[in-house]
Amino acid sequence: SLSGKTAIITGSNSGIGLGVARALAGAGANVILNSFTDNDEDHALADEIAKAHNVTARYIKADMSKGEECRKLIEEAGACDILVNNAGIQHVAPIDEFPADKWDAIIAINMSSAFHCTAAALPMMRKAGWGRVVNIASAHGLTASPYKSAYVTAKHGVVGMTKTVALETAKEDITVNAICPGYVKTPLVEAQIPDTAKKYDMSEEEVIEKVILERQPSKEFATVEQIGGTAVFLCSAEAAQITGTTISIDGGWTAL
Ligand code: NAD
Repeated sequence: SLSGKTAIITGSNSGIGLGVARALAGAGANVILNSFTDNDEDHALADEIAKAHNVTARYIKADMSKGEECRKLIEEAGACDILVNNAGIQHVAPIDEFPADKWDAIIAINMSSAFHCTAAALPMMRKAGWGRVVNIASAHGLTASPYKSAYVTAKHGVVGMTKTVALETAKEDITVNAICPGYVKTPLVEAQIPDTAKKYDMSEEEVIEKVILERQPSKEFATVEQIGGTAVFLCSAEAAQITGTTISIDGGWTAL
């Protein structure tokens, strides 16, 4: 059980981050939710998780595109036994047309936030004598697709950071790993289905199989529950010697 541990999950008011937060709370951890907004619904999510799992849950607003805010999130939380670097955005364009501000935002949110949060959290983990860092990378941390230069660069960077920090903490009861999901049916991905169907003049079912899941041999989406369960496993005693590696949850994508 993770009871008594505090888990901070960046970018967790939706999608994978929220699923991982629910799974960690289900395993007994107190959780800190985060995004860059400060709406009633954000705080209501924390209340709902606290009630459902009999843990404490808080929502802390912090913009993961800004280094100081990343570090402030960890400080404000006051404890960090488990850090899940999850916040991420996407933009798709050929590199010679890629907007420089989108490039900077993706590198900052998808990659540098993991640097700032990890740097701020490690001293707390060392003090507690135990820690788990789980980076939500992507199949795009291991392989590439055209038009996703910033995303692929950032996710490869996260995989490299995962290995490096694992070596820096190897002698301690701290592990650092990355989960590499293929396509997961989050609101982000779901929103693209109707537009893509129109663009290719296909049914939504065809878009899912032939366009979105083209690279995913299982032809099924991964789920946020599967990502959450894997994160819980990486935090377990049984996973104590798993460090500096990646776990793919991609229906065979990276086996191709
Ligand atoms: P999502 O849009 O549902 O979730 C992204 C989260 O990040 C949201 O909570 C959002 O509020 C937050 N966020 C965005 N910008 C932020 C900022 N500046 N500061 C703080 N929070 C911010 O998408 P998702 O699919 O759940 O993605 C979560 C992570 O999983 C991302 O890192 C993404 O790259 C990765 N991932 C997703 C898929 C997929 O198919 N959905 C596959 C592989 C990896």
